[in-house]
Amino acid sequence: MSNSCFKVKKPENEPVLTYDKESSERMNLKLKISELKQKHYEIPLIIGGKEVHTGQTQECIIPHNKNHVLATYHMAGEKEVKLAIEAALEAKREWSKMPWQHRASIFLKAAELLAGPWRTTLNAATMLGQSKTAHQAEIDSACELIDFLRFNVYYMSEIYSEQIISTNESWNRMEYRPLEGFVFAVTPFNFTAIGGNLSISPALMGNTVVWKPSGSAVYSNYFFMKLLQEAGLPDGVINFIPGSGSLIGDIVFNSEWLGGVHFTGSTEVFNGMWKTVGANIDKYRSYPRLVGETGGKDFVFAHKDADVDKLVTALIRGAFEYQGQKCSAASRAYIPESLWNEVKEKLISEVETIKVGDVEDFTNFMGAVIDKKSFDKIKGYIEYANNSNEAEIIVGGNCDDTIGYFIEPTIIATKNPFFKTMTEEIFGPVLTIYVYEDNKFEETLNICNESTVYGLTGSIFSQNRKAIVEMENILEYAAGNLYINDKPTGAVVGQQPFGGGRASGTNDKAGSKLNLLRWVSPRVIKETFNAPGSYRYSFME
Ligand code: NAD
Repeated sequence: MSNSCFKVKKPENEPVLTYDKESSERMNLKLKISELKQKHYEIPLIIGGKEVHTGQTQECIIPHNKNHVLATYHMAGEKEVKLAIEAALEAKREWSKMPWQHRASIFLKAAELLAGPWRTTLNAATMLGQSKTAHQAEIDSACELIDFLRFNVYYMSEIYSEQIISTNESWNRMEYRPLEGFVFAVTPFNFTAIGGNLSISPALMGNTVVWKPSGSAVYSNYFFMKLLQEAGLPDGVINFIPGSGSLIGDIVFNSEWLGGVHFTGSTEVFNGMWKTVGANIDKYRSYPRLVGETGGKDFVFAHKDADVDKLVTALIRGAFEYQGQKCSAASRAYIPESLWNEVKEKLISEVETIKVGDVEDFTNFMGAVIDKKSFDKIKGYIEYANNSNEAEIIVGGNCDDTIGYFIEPTIIATKNPFFKTMTEEIFGPVLTIYVYEDNKFEETLNICNESTVYGLTGSIFSQNRKAIVEMENILEYAAGNLYINDKPTGAVVGQQPFGGGRASGTNDKAGSKLNLLRWVSPRVIKETFNAPGSYRYSFME
């Protein structure tokens, strides 16, 4: 029995390890990579805490070494999806009544396990399965995921302590109930941290979850699921069911108990889910909460007073880190004519030094793109630009999938600000640049604002305060995360809560209080101490 209002320590961001040449973290990571490569895992579904093997399987491969199979994973069929929903509903009874400090403890313990003994496993799995460099894995599967775990717990305690006004006559209390039913978490391949966060954040608030990971990230996501079990997450609170999105979706969206959807992925898939939920709306007991962070066509807009070296660095890191497969990756840029020659020269000479290859070689800046489908799609965009008289490839452009899915960092220059690669999400290492006349600054800002359906991230570059104000104003809805004189990627939990509007999502800012509020349905309780004994008011006398 606890008779206290407990406080949670205010978290600090997890420090990023450097993996420098002689460091112990580098040595341990290399050992873990070779250990994982020598094993072949058989990854089951985890439903109600039990391992389920369906015999319907797919393989987890290394994108930069496509013939190396890391694991075989089992896929859910109709029966397993129904079992996962039942397990979630069953576990909900105890989980939603568990004192919040105990729920908090499980996730704080998970953070400690990830910061300590599990760190190298999650990082090595993310490097191998998703082709991230050591640095990209460290900021994703270690730091960001640890931050999500710790900051969410802190925000939960803040939400619970927000209360309403009471009087001497009555005490008003606000309860933050979890949603009725279960939450469906559907996660993308590109961040292990997102895979984890989309399932843990509703669970933390007392919900239970059916989690469908991306087929291309099952490997690292499975290790995270095992970590949660080690941290003491009760059976059935999160049910891990890899499998076909449409098969699983068809069953889940027909359940009367669907309480919410926590999605990150492409706009197209989220739009499909929204339509299905709309068509099925009479079936549900409550209006399902739909939270989706989706695609982007993120920009870098330079004013003539921009610092060229900083701009060039932001373009390179923004566009090419993790092979451009970040939803926030810079994929279109607007450069004033007066700066273009200098920017072009520096960009080309720097990009030509970038090494692409196996992420186990720490001198590589980039690995491979995730799979054949992505490889073909990105290659298609590069070929389209190659064949167009409106565009020119100024650096890169080669694609090679003999060993792994490698695509060179590629920069396209175009004369048309509405060119296909200026407006469509490519999700690969391809940056398109439009050079504008200096005196068309405002006109070009309006084009940047209007030419895509998205509104996720963007950067503006200038040393001139008046220009910064103008850019900020015209681009008000062009990005949910706007950067001034910095790259448009690399949001940190607690510092830059992440998400955008328009076709980029519901902008519920992952890793913030705003997101957690979507997983509760408040109940207000008014308790009156001395209620009136007659219906007559004094004015009636
Ligand atoms: P995706 O849309 O292909 O897949 C996302 C998830 O949805 C996967 O688990 C997939 O299996 C599942 N899915 C696919 N079809 C489904 C269906 N019919 N029903 C149910 N589930 C289905 O996306 P991806 O390739 O994994 O990730 C890349 C996309 O994610 C890009 O568009 C990127 O911009 C976006 N993204 C956005 C953010 C953000 O915060 N806005 C962050 C990361 C990635």
